[in-house]
Amino acid sequence: MQDVIVIGSGISGLSVAYRLNKVGVKVLVLEKEEQLGGNIQTILKDGFLCELGPQTILADREVEEFLKDAGISPEYASVVSKNRYVYKKGKLIPIPMSLLEFLTSPLLSISGKLRLLKEPFVPKSVKTEESIAEFVRRRLGEEFLNYLVAPFVSGVYAGDPKELSVKYAVRKVYELEQKYTSLIKGAIKLKALGPSGKLISFKGGNKTLIEELSKNLAVQSENVALRIRKKEGIYLVDAKEGKYEARAVVIASPAWSLGYLLRDISWSVAQEFDKVYYAPVVVVHAVVKEGTVPKGFGFLVPRVEKKRILGAVFSSQLFPGRAPEGMELLTIYLGGSTDPQIVDYEDDLIAQIVQSEIKEILGQVPQIINITKWKRGIPQYTLGYGRFYELADLIEKENPGLFLTGNYLRGVSVADCIRNSKEVAQKVLKYLS
Ligand SMILES: Cc1cc2nc3c(=O)[nH]c(=O)nc-3n(C[C@H](O)[C@H](O)[C@H](O)COP(=O)(O)OP(=O)(O)OC[C@H]3O[C@@H](n4cnc5c(N)ncnc54)[C@H](O)[C@@H]3O)c2cc1C
Repeated sequence: MQDVIVIGSGISGLSVAYRLNKVGVKVLVLEKEEQLGGNIQTILKDGFLCELGPQTILADREVEEFLKDAGISPEYASVVSKNRYVYKKGKLIPIPMSLLEFLTSPLLSISGKLRLLKEPFVPKSVKTEESIAEFVRRRLGEEFLNYLVAPFVSGVYAGDPKELSVKYAVRKVYELEQKYTSLIKGAIKLKALGPSGKLISFKGGNKTLIEELSKNLAVQSENVALRIRKKEGIYLVDAKEGKYEARAVVIASPAWSLGYLLRDISWSVAQEFDKVYYAPVVVVHAVVKEGTVPKGFGFLVPRVEKKRILGAVFSSQLFPGRAPEGMELLTIYLGGSTDPQIVDYEDDLIAQIVQSEIKEILGQVPQIINITKWKRGIPQYTLGYGRFYELADLIEKENPGLFLTGNYLRGVSVADCIRNSKEVAQKVLKYLS
């Protein structure tokens, strides 16, 4: 008999398991795949360290404290990472970092810049919910949407701003309008523009985080959980390798697993989670000669520029030792909810697309070293997404001792998953006591 079974060894599951194990709770983690970590996967290929999933983690104080507590030392991204670029009409244009840079930047036209002066006078929306595109167009204008916000939405969600809910996908921005009526006034009051924190990874890549978190935990890989039942206040978990009993269960596997896991106890509600859409993402690792790319984090390509590439990270510039000397490793992203079909293309075709577009953007044909396809990559917090929060609450209410977590609830970033694990672990502890 376990105190808690955690289903899924992604960062959501492992962070909850780590917190519970640390205070003496008996935890067993069940993982479907051979490799732990879910989206967090790092490989070494031909001397290159390739992140197949998340590249960097934006760590705030809470995340840094979690890592310190777990004895995991982060590796901080190089200072060049503050330089980011947007592709516009054949050129990589630096994203302005100050008012002066913004005024002189060719990223927005004069009329696009003047449009921003209206922002403090735009009233709050009377609609109950708006898409990111509607919200930004109304407050900041079309050009700002196309050249700054839409590429950012691609970078974080591989998403379409016309479909994502401003309230659920970028909650902080939504709250700025609610609280200060204007984003500019709010940002001035808070003395902050954009997200804050330090960009980190780990020596050996993000898989180090998974290895360190799981090292003192009971984890069984290749042991998929198949169904969860209840008997006299105890949870029974049927898995591939056996049947397990626990006082509480934390489901940290993706939204689509709820339907089959909970078919005996909350079927009609749980199967609704099949409707959470995960945008597919293709990740290509490619190499160019050192000096080919400008110093920086990477670039984003606005959809209006009509390219298949969504963006690229200059991975070997961020952290030392990720590429052999004289070479630069690029991690290039394609697909997302604006171009989902590319995930079904043959690798050869994807390689050709990447080579021809990188040649246009950086002036050199890259050598492709790896292609990864995430068919269900990143959950999309679309309009009306609040219903999934309500359904998750309902499942937990109907089944005391059962807890749901994962990147489809309250934030998709690795940092969000780590932060959310604190509240989940507290709820579990409260229940057990
Ligand atoms: C290509 C890509 C790039 C990204 N880049 C970044 C980035 O740079 N920075 C950032 O902060 N975030 C990034 N993200 C997002 C972030 O990586 C994820 O949101 C986060 O890692 C998800 O963690 P999770 O534990 O919630 O889910 P997952 O990682 O999906 O873990 C769920 C786990 O559950 C397991 N599982 C499923 N069903 C069962 C079952 N029945 N029984 C047992 N186990 C099961 C799965 O195998 C998996 O291991 C990226 C995501 C992708 C796909």
